Amino acid sequence: MKSCIFCGIASREAQASLVYEDALCLAFMDLFPMRPGHVLVVNKRHAQFVHQLTPEERAHLFETGNRIGQALRQTSLKPDALHFNINDGKAAHQTVPHVHLHVLPRYEGDLLAFAGGIFGKPLQMLRGGTKRTVLDRQAEEIRLALGFRSLH
Ligand code: 5GP
Ligand code: ZN
Repeated sequence: MKSCIFCGIASREAQASLVYEDALCLAFMDLFPMRPGHVLVVNKRHAQFVHQLTPEERAHLFETGNRIGQALRQTSLKPDALHFNINDGKAAHQTVPHVHLHVLPRYEGDLLAFAGGIFGKPLQMLRGGTKRTVLDRQAEEIRLALGFRSLH
């Protein structure tokens, strides 16, 4: 098993609810989502920091995040808004040292639920995260909105 969990997901050694894949990046549902529909877009090649990506990888990561955000808006989750967020280093709360873009649905008046997502994360982790069936259903909806039914 790879030491980096996101490299493990990219190589299919670790399980994830996959949303999208191409030669440069991969997108999947966050196992411990801050809000339902929380997607992570990761660069396939391992690098911890944004500045370690090539210009092409950096541009592609955001372009892909944007496509996924647009697809998310078309799902039954119907977010009112989105965060596109990268935590670039430990002091910026990067907990997985492999570049990833959070695409995170937000709703009018959801501040308490959002705070619950932040402070409830340790409990979510103890419980093993959101059920795979729930994540798979969300991933499928996003894939359909992107125009894909399955990845392979
Ligand atoms: P960071 O804090 O590094 O910006 O975000 C890392 C994200 O990865 C967190 O939102 C966390 O919930 C998510 N995460 C951690 N481990 C796993 C995992 O094994 N699978 C998936 N799908 N997400 C994970
Ligand atoms: Zn990695």
